[in-house]
Amino acid sequence: MFLLLFGEVRRLYIRASEISREGLDVIASRGKAWIPRLLEGMNTYPFRACRMLSITLFLSLEGRDLEASGSFVAEGEGACDRCAESVTQRLEREFQTIFVPADRGPVEAGDLELRRDDLDIAFYDGAGIEVADIFWEQVALALPAKVLCREDCRGVCPHCGGDRNRTECDCAGERREGPFDVLKTLRREKE
Ligand SMILES: [Zn+2]
Ligand SMILES: [Zn+2]
Repeated sequence: MFLLLFGEVRRLYIRASEISREGLDVIASRGKAWIPRLLEGMNTYPFRACRMLSITLFLSLEGRDLEASGSFVAEGEGACDRCAESVTQRLEREFQTIFVPADRGPVEAGDLELRRDDLDIAFYDGAGIEVADIFWEQVALALPAKVLCREDCRGVCPHCGGDRNRTECDCAGERREGPFDVLKTLRREKE
């Protein structure tokens, strides 16, 4: 019922006030039980489904700026774009993002970007952060443009439907005997 009433369920919300001076190791303080459900409801196209396997996440505050450093390992399931074979692909990524309060001036935020150009800058409301949002963003960045069973997948023959990775069909050979070959034969017969 709760799920139906509230479309956006807060899976794991961390208030800025919960982060101590030493920072907060989210897994150490909140356990791991919620991790497999972290991507439920996410559009993980071109994968049919994507499951989170493991994550790390450390949050710390520098003034009101919230720094998130972490990593994830997920598994995407889909079908090869060329041969339709089912594919399971591992996705992983490490990240470091600074969430700046949205009410902070753009000039100040620009300063931060110059100072720490190796980091991603994002905004938050200054009160807290939804852990699922952090990981949805990171998984979205790791999704491939296409699912392929392997880089050099040869796909399916458009003529006979055969899987070109398994068998070499004769369709290419048949095509070579097109109308020009017939003309050549006719000419040869005339001569
Ligand atoms: Zn394929
Ligand atoms: Zn063929």
